[in-house]
This record gives sequence, C-alpha cells and structure tokens, in this order.
Amino acid sequence: MYDSAVMEAPSTVSTATLDHISYSSVKTYQTCPRKFAFKYIEQVSEEFKPSSLAFGSAFHSAVERVQEARMQGSGVPALNDVLNAFDTAWSNETCSADVQFCKEEDAQTVRELAQRMLDAYLTYASLEATLPSQAQIISIEHSNRFCLLADVPPVESRIDLLELQGTDLVVSDLKSSRSRWNDTKVAESIPQLVLYATGLLPLMRELGATRIVTKFVVVTKAKKPVVQVLQPQCSQADVVRLKEQVAETWTAIQTGLFVKRESWACAQCPFKSRCLGR
Ligand code: SF4
Repeated sequence: MYDSAVMEAPSTVSTATLDHISYSSVKTYQTCPRKFAFKYIEQVSEEFKPSSLAFGSAFHSAVERVQEARMQGSGVPALNDVLNAFDTAWSNETCSADVQFCKEEDAQTVRELAQRMLDAYLTYASLEATLPSQAQIISIEHSNRFCLLADVPPVESRIDLLELQGTDLVVSDLKSSRSRWNDTKVAESIPQLVLYATGLLPLMRELGATRIVTKFVVVTKAKKPVVQVLQPQCSQADVVRLKEQVAETWTAIQTGLFVKRESWACAQCPFKSRCLGR
C-alpha cells in the first residue's frame, strides 16, 4: 500500500496563457515536461543561472558586434572591441542572478575562454572577408513570428544572422559547444534550421531569392577553439517530420499534465530545489 501523502498524483496546469511556441520551448518540453511548465506556463523565478546560459548569451552579443561592424562597412573589429561587448553582456546577464559555475570554472576562466573563442571567431571572420563573393547582411538577430500549423499557436524565432548571397537567403545559427559537432549532433539539430527556414519563405520571396540555405556556425569551448561551418541538407521529409513533432508536442502540452523527467540534466536545472527539494 502507498502512502497518499507521499504518492501525490501530478497536478494539471492550464495552458491558456501560451500564445506562442518556439524551438526552445518545444525542446524543453521534450526534455522535461515539468521544466516546460515551470518556465513557460507558471513562469517561476529561476533559482540560479547556469554559467553556460549566461556565457552563450554574452558570446552571441560579442559576435553580434562583429556582424554590426560588417554591416557598417567598418571591417572586422579588434579583439578588445568584441571582448568589451562580451564583458558588458556577461555583466548584464549575471548582475541580478546567482550564477552556478561548473567544476573548476569561475568568472575569470569564463572570460579567458571567451577571449580564446572570440579570437578564433575573428580569424574566421577575417578569412570570410577576403572571399570574392561577399554576402549582404539582411538582418542580425532577426525576429520572426509565423503560423506553422493551423491548430498550434504561432511559432516565434530569433535568427542570429540572415544574409543574401546571389539568389540564396542564407540563415546562420551560432552555437558555442564543448566539442566539435559530429554527424549525429548535426542530424538531431536539423529541426531547428528547418523550422527557421519554413518561417522565412515569405521573406525569401519578398527579397527575390530562390532558395534558403541554412548553416550552423559552431565555435568550440576548447584550449584551442575551432570554428566549424556546417551546412546540412534539409529535405521535404525533414519538414514533414518537424510538423509531426510540433503537432505531437502541442497535443501533449494541451493535456496540462507535466510530469518530471529526472536525468543528469537536473543538476543544471534552475528549478531543481522547487522540483526535487534538493
Ligand atoms: S529538476 Fe529535473 S525533473 Fe525537475 S524540472 Fe528540472 S529537469 Fe525536470
């Protein structure tokens, strides 16, 4: 016999407040439905900010500085310039949050890592700048809201970089990663690019482009960081699978039942005390 005080049935939560979804929210649901509810429905305050999240945002801001300079025609900025952009963004990300660092990591080692990664990125950007056919930047941090499926709330996306190269609309997503991406990692990340590309079809036509080219730019968090440019081929089957995944996830969300899915990821979950009591 079970003690009813211990074995509580999970409570259901109304999803009426959800007016949009995103790639990130769908992934969060797939990883842990309870975390999804804390973050997107109940909007519970986070107990801490994982350093990896603050780092990712600050790194994006620093690379944005490189794209802004390109857009203004002022060439590739100096390392100090982008490092200043990193420092400002890191301080904004962490000033009002309790940052949880990983083992053998602190604010100083995080900054040193940012310096190495930005140095590698600037080398890549300088090489790109010497290529004969330059792409024209259309938008940096491009916000898009579109309807993917009639019975599902609109999708919101924020795309790192949009460029026009000839008749190609080029969509880039920047990643900072512990290690180089292999084929498996690329394959499991394709839905994100497929989602972005689907929402950009109207803009593609408006710009007179004839196809959308998607790519991941991955910068590794290593002693000697490398920049990988990965351009996976997406097919119509990927679009069909994406729509199935989103429809299935939305159907599951609407049940209002958000079970805990305990895993190694709980250690970095900013709701873990509330959720697990430890
Ligand atoms: S602590 Fe674990 S089970 Fe609880 S919400 Fe976070 S990821 Fe899910």
